[in-house]
Amino acid sequence: MKRQKQKLIILGTGFAAFSLLKSINTHFYEVIIVSPRNHFLFTPLLPSTTVGTIEFRSIIEPIRTAKEKITYHYAYCTQINDEAKIIICKNALDGNTFSLAYDLLVIAVGAMNNTYGIPGVEQFALPLKELADARAIRQRIIENFERASTPGLQFEERKRLLHFVIVGGGPTGVEFAAELHDFLTEDLVDSYPAMIPDVDITLLEAGTSILNTFDAALSDYTLRNFQRQRISVRLHSQVTSIDEKELLLSDGSHVPYGLLVWSTGNTQTDFVKSLSVEKDKAKRIITDEYFHVKGFTHLFALGDCAVIEHQLLPATSQVAQQEGYYLGKALNALAKEKPIKPFIYHHHGMLAYIGSNRALADLPQMKGKGFSTWIFWRSAYLTKLISWKNKILVVFDWMKAFIFGRDTSRF
Ligand SMILES: Cc1cc2nc3c(=O)[nH]c(=O)nc-3n(C[C@H](O)[C@H](O)[C@H](O)COP(=O)(O)OP(=O)(O)OC[C@H]3O[C@@H](n4cnc5c(N)ncnc54)[C@H](O)[C@@H]3O)c2cc1C
Repeated sequence: MKRQKQKLIILGTGFAAFSLLKSINTHFYEVIIVSPRNHFLFTPLLPSTTVGTIEFRSIIEPIRTAKEKITYHYAYCTQINDEAKIIICKNALDGNTFSLAYDLLVIAVGAMNNTYGIPGVEQFALPLKELADARAIRQRIIENFERASTPGLQFEERKRLLHFVIVGGGPTGVEFAAELHDFLTEDLVDSYPAMIPDVDITLLEAGTSILNTFDAALSDYTLRNFQRQRISVRLHSQVTSIDEKELLLSDGSHVPYGLLVWSTGNTQTDFVKSLSVEKDKAKRIITDEYFHVKGFTHLFALGDCAVIEHQLLPATSQVAQQEGYYLGKALNALAKEKPIKPFIYHHHGMLAYIGSNRALADLPQMKGKGFSTWIFWRSAYLTKLISWKNKILVVFDWMKAFIFGRDTSRF
């Protein structure tokens, strides 16, 4: 007798959800996806889109065509009623609510930027998490150059507008600073030659080093590289409040800024915080090594919103992607009544771009830095991009930026 398909709802379209979707067999499951983002976003190349090294649409994959025989809803999940096995959703465009029934539910909703409750962050700082954020940053950079070019503008105001501040010395903050430096020295220098001497880039980090998840020698190399590039790195610098034009540090200093990018790590979404399931201190959903939410057999959680009990895996795309592939394969095996082994994470290392065609590679088998590592960085990400369409678009974008420069128009 033909086995009835189970209804599998996946919440999210990020690394965990997308790799699950790629590996699940729709022959066994009726797959329904709910997410306020109708595409998968390849975040490791997001900093490159803020300055136009890569175009926005080159690093996304539309979800509706990612796999045949799936259903997608452009909505947030707002509530899970596990007794009735339904979820309540809110359309991300018009706010209309609806409910969906499930047999199995996967929570892969990621995390959000941590503002640490610092006054002014939400209002004045720009995050770098989604394409819309990258677009807003790109617009603001050009806008500030245009404003700073106004005849008769006071010197202090021009300096403020051209002061680009990044808070957070992790890979995202470092890569954005690096891309911004390249944009200034390779393209904006031609469009706004008179402005360039007044430009400053400052990276503020509350801790004792930048890129603290990387090998210490690579972190030091980045500091020296940033010194050469005139990116000022201020360690032990804790932001205490922000207003429209300046931020205040814990040592009492005032820092005027024209653009402020906030990239200080993750916190959980209100949706995850609202769920009545067991969580760790960081409010991540606790699961076993098969990704069952603790105490449930038909609820799963993975990616940045979850943590495997007694395992401390970093919140990275690498982890989320491996978890998603694993769960898809495990669910396929379950449908075929085959045994399943617990999840084991394989660390392949970390990469970061640090500007001027230099990159870092902190791999289990070797540490690399400089120009040759930049070639490796580009090839590695090209391989990791999901579709041929994206691989080709990204190669064209790189060639276009190299030959014609990045576009500096505002529209
Ligand atoms: C700029 C940037 C650069 C990065 N670079 C790297 C890198 O180089 N290497 C690396 O390993 N990692 C990198 N990361 C981290 C990596 O992107 C994350 O760890 C990874 O995306 C986590 O995957 P996820 O599936 O858990 O969540 P996400 O990819 O964040 O996806 C979450 C999904 O859930 C959806 N969602 C949210 N709320 C709801 C809801 N209530 N209902 C339904 N859906 C919801 C979201 O719209 C989204 O589609 C970077 C992150 C950023 C922001």
